[in-house]
Amino acid sequence: STPNIAAAKAALSHIEQDENPATIRSKSRDFFWYSPVLKEKMDHLEADFVVNPKSEEEVIEILRVCYAHDVPVTTRGAGTGNYGQAMPMRGGCVMHMKNMASVKEIAPGRVVTEPGIVVKELDAQTRAHSGQELRMMPSTFATATIGGFVAGGSGGIGSCTWGALRDFGNIIRLRVVTMEEEPRVVELTGDELPRVSHAFGTNGIITEIEMPLAPAYDWTELLVAFDDFPDAAKFAEGVANQDGILIKLATVIEAPIGKSYFQRIAPHVEEGTNLVILLVAPHSVEGLKTFMEAEEVPGAIIYDSTDNDWPRTPGALAEYTWNHTTLRALKVDPSITYLQVRYRYPDHMELVEKVRAEFGAEVLQHLEVMRENGKVMFAGLPIVAFSTPERLEEIIRIHEEMGCMIFNPHRYTLEEGGRQSTDARQLNFKREADPKGLLNPGKMIAWDDPDFDYATMYDYPAMTPKPEA
Ligand code: FAD
Repeated sequence: STPNIAAAKAALSHIEQDENPATIRSKSRDFFWYSPVLKEKMDHLEADFVVNPKSEEEVIEILRVCYAHDVPVTTRGAGTGNYGQAMPMRGGCVMHMKNMASVKEIAPGRVVTEPGIVVKELDAQTRAHSGQELRMMPSTFATATIGGFVAGGSGGIGSCTWGALRDFGNIIRLRVVTMEEEPRVVELTGDELPRVSHAFGTNGIITEIEMPLAPAYDWTELLVAFDDFPDAAKFAEGVANQDGILIKLATVIEAPIGKSYFQRIAPHVEEGTNLVILLVAPHSVEGLKTFMEAEEVPGAIIYDSTDNDWPRTPGALAEYTWNHTTLRALKVDPSITYLQVRYRYPDHMELVEKVRAEFGAEVLQHLEVMRENGKVMFAGLPIVAFSTPERLEEIIRIHEEMGCMIFNPHRYTLEEGGRQSTDARQLNFKREADPKGLLNPGKMIAWDDPDFDYATMYDYPAMTPKPEA
């Protein structure tokens, strides 16, 4: 049925709303523009209104009212997602979670929190309370919310030790509100968690999150320089495989990314410098140096956050990793783009070299060390010289033919940006929790077309059409 926007908005007039058209526009956007393909397709999308609930009761009321008036609801954390995840494909209501930001409980090994808190602030609170930190966080930790990370993210700083968000044990419990005539509150644990984690808010709104914690450290940040890329990759893998050396991050950056795109690091490196970025627990730094000597690692530590004479320090090295590498490159050269690749154990090293041999400077390597089922492997976020969407598709195809898995960041659906199949747990839960299909519509292909297949799924047209020029 046709949404009755005016009726819904009026019925929610007692809940905080953003009225300024510029604010409505900005709250309808995320980091979709990262992709030249999505920028072209999604730039026109805009919500009809923005509402900011303060409590679970207000979330329930918003969902009840919007259900009654057939108004789509797209939830927003901080809008740092980069697949257009938080963009209202069919207009309607954007529900911004920023006012639901209180931490409810911190205990040994776990924290219970509302979803709208910024990750950095949550981390500060668990540190201050009892010297604990989140196991992993996105490189957008300074701005992203924990709810957006659970609903839209995948892993990040910490994944070299703890694996990905989707791995067993990395989320403990989620409290979720459904979008029905009378919304229900459900608590999900164990094998129920994948119903809504990384489901883009398409089948329930997360109002409370319980996450595991690890001991917090003042991580020492190191930059290690290498002349040869394979030496750098081998070193990063080797450090992550050392059982006694505690790290939170190991990132490999191919030359000349450091010189070309890392402005504060550039004066200290050459065109040909390949970099490894490490976050090491302070008590593990000596162990790391001993490992480097014992293995005769052909690299040199050129920056140590605890001891350096750089006139301008680079700032947090974590903000050069994961998708921040891409962001820094985009700031210098807006014409570049990127991919998300998985180089699986045990072929990861060989696959990376195959890709390098195939593409050369067209696809510059940026690897993140990850653990998967206890094995060290690489997530790649290579920087790609963008020419045409067709060439980008071809580059993706060649990667897939070589045996790499691609999470396509130039698509906005769960299926295309993810594992290229529908998660039946998510689809079944949507049938139950969102019978009218109003939650973040257009993001789950299987909801609209259960018979879609991989061959036809690209370019799924599920949004408000672009106005005629
Ligand atoms: P949003 O972008 O606002 O939302 C993300 C998705 O979650 C949307 O679909 C939204 O509808 C849904 N959502 C938000 N809150 C709720 C809720 N309470 N209930 C239900 N659904 C909800 N991601 C990583 O995983 N790792 C990284 O290292 C990483 N690095 C990044 C670096 C850069 C420079 C950029 C631009 C992005 C990066 N991302 C990364 C993607 C993104 O920043 C993270 O996933 C982040 O955690 C999203 O949080 P957010 O609050 O901005 O969520």
